[in-house]
Amino acid sequence: MVCLNKWSQEDSYAFRDQYIAKGFNEDIALRTYSSRLLGSDPELVLHGGGNTSVKTTYKDLFGNYHSVLCVKGSGWDLGTIEPEGHPMVYLNPLLKLKKLNVLSDEDMVALHRQNLINPKSPNPSVETLLHAFLPHKFIDHTHSVALLSIADQDNAAEICKKIYGNEVAIIPYVMPGFDLAKLASEIHDQAEEKAKSNSKELKGMVLIKHGIFSFGKTAEESYLRMIELVNKAEKVLPRKIQLDLYSPRKYDSNMKNLDEFIPFLRGLISKKISKYSNQKRCVFDIRSSKNLIEFSNLQNIQELSERGVATPDHVIRTKAKPLILKKLPLNLLRQKCEKVLLDQWFEDVRIKLDKYIEDYISYFDKNNLAKGKVKKRLDPLPRVLIIPGFGLIGIGDCKKSASLVADISQTWIETLLSAESIGKYSPVNSEDTFDLEYWSLEQAKLGGKKLPPLAGNIVCITGAGGVIGLEIAKEFCKNGAEIICLDKDYNSAKKSAETCGGSAIAISCDVTSKNDISDAFNEIIYTFGGIDILISNAGTAIQGNMYGIEDAQFESSLKINLLAHHYLSQKTLKILKSQDYLNHHKNEYLGGQLLFNVSKQALNPGKGFGAYGIAKSALLALMKQYAIEEGEFNIRSNCVNADRIRSGLLNSEMIKSRSIARGITEDDYMSGNLLKSEVRAKDVANAFLSLSLMERTTGAIVTVDGGNVAAMPR
Ligand code: ZN
Repeated sequence: MVCLNKWSQEDSYAFRDQYIAKGFNEDIALRTYSSRLLGSDPELVLHGGGNTSVKTTYKDLFGNYHSVLCVKGSGWDLGTIEPEGHPMVYLNPLLKLKKLNVLSDEDMVALHRQNLINPKSPNPSVETLLHAFLPHKFIDHTHSVALLSIADQDNAAEICKKIYGNEVAIIPYVMPGFDLAKLASEIHDQAEEKAKSNSKELKGMVLIKHGIFSFGKTAEESYLRMIELVNKAEKVLPRKIQLDLYSPRKYDSNMKNLDEFIPFLRGLISKKISKYSNQKRCVFDIRSSKNLIEFSNLQNIQELSERGVATPDHVIRTKAKPLILKKLPLNLLRQKCEKVLLDQWFEDVRIKLDKYIEDYISYFDKNNLAKGKVKKRLDPLPRVLIIPGFGLIGIGDCKKSASLVADISQTWIETLLSAESIGKYSPVNSEDTFDLEYWSLEQAKLGGKKLPPLAGNIVCITGAGGVIGLEIAKEFCKNGAEIICLDKDYNSAKKSAETCGGSAIAISCDVTSKNDISDAFNEIIYTFGGIDILISNAGTAIQGNMYGIEDAQFESSLKINLLAHHYLSQKTLKILKSQDYLNHHKNEYLGGQLLFNVSKQALNPGKGFGAYGIAKSALLALMKQYAIEEGEFNIRSNCVNADRIRSGLLNSEMIKSRSIARGITEDDYMSGNLLKSEVRAKDVANAFLSLSLMERTTGAIVTVDGGNVAAMPR
């Protein structure tokens, strides 16, 4: 796609008025507006990349005016930025730094912070001094795909000269920070003079193997110049950029047998990563489209993928190179293949992964030695897998980070292919990549984050559209899990997923149908890479005395309240075992969990609830059976025995009729337990959560009924 000029005079005025009304000045209002325009185009800026600034004045409490630089703060995304996303820094102290010959990163960051107007602001961008040292009022910086296709050539300067003449300054590659800011400012000043002497105006700067800057007197001028400069680059590229980040995300139901190989990959990577970090499980983001498949099938893919990242700061997300796997055996995506062929493929993956880890460690050791051995190695695992004929897989500690990796990888592929169409893709070299990967200021962007207890766990909840299902989904989501809401009624599942927000998804599934389960799990694998916890919660209470019950009714109760749980467990176990395939050490099983919603009826049967209670009693036995048979594989099986919860099974009408029948108030009926308190759906959700965290518990039943002597397990 060609980058379009999205500036609208009308919108910019409305935006300006809206933000002025909120107390911001016009410069900041329009800075916010055009930053968002840049940030909304993934061909220019992706996930927190790029940065923008404006030089303006600030009036202090005494009525004195100060020159300030508002520059993008770390942690903000240009696409959704607010005025607070451009922290305000006193400009003059920054300009004084130009006189220094050296400035350490620590001193630079300290100076940025000392000069913040609002001490609560985030850290200003690592490229703050570059913005400060340039004389222009508005400055925009992007990592445009088209521009990088040219800037990542060995003769980039020569091509840029041809495209831009004297309109842009060309800055050789230097790592961001003080040195780059100084060099860029010097070259800029010379180029500006030269442009002036030719009666031209300097519109921007190309940073070789890094990105592009534009500047102007107004937000509009700077923005339009960015688009103009990028469009010029697009014009000379024989291959047209087609960065489509959205369609390859969609699950294609024609893609069969994902369970044959994807969970294996996830299990293998998860086990390796846990050896090198505090992360225990990883989540996948799979991308498969015609474009990506074509790329993955290139003869020289291995060699191409070794060349490096499109712009250096991508390295902290994707590592310097992906891991290229072997083509899948035969037509695995359409038909099952022989086990022996699949085993060979698995073995090959294992060898390639070990080699990747080995290579990464030696890349680190070599570069670290050159730096005086002061760096601490990051985990050596790949972040991107490419499977020829299939597509790519982004790997993260959660779905969000995996998607971010996949987006950046798609951008890398577009840059690489377009660069190859005009010459040779030759990005920043391995030493410079290392410098950026291990630069303390880049590492700070990732943060030393503490992972929530269920981070990386993929959790599927059945009956998720119901009251209890929703509470379970919310509780697990709050604790960092990836959520799949399954329900026969898609709309209610969708509502629950939306309530969870983030990456939660909804799938319509009749859990009594093996076909539906199979399709649902295929989609789960495509979306997340596998599964860790099944919360088998769906059920229906069928009433009637056993003597008179219709066969069909009894059978349907057995189907939904017993067999469905079994089918779901079998399918879950297949994935869990695949994640642990080729496991040779007893203590290394990733394992997983089965959690069932069993009713009080299993322990304390009630008159007229036979069809339901008998199925639930058998479900309790099923839970124990799985605990016995799967314990050695670190697969735990537990259940919750909940009673008298307001839900689809016990609705307000039933509560009313039962309390009338007992001659008590509804409140007394609902709190008729030892604790004299109504038991809420949230309490049930908490019980499931607790069980999921009880690492040494299996075969257990946790009662959530406020205390009921007759239903005490015995
Ligand atoms: Zn940059």
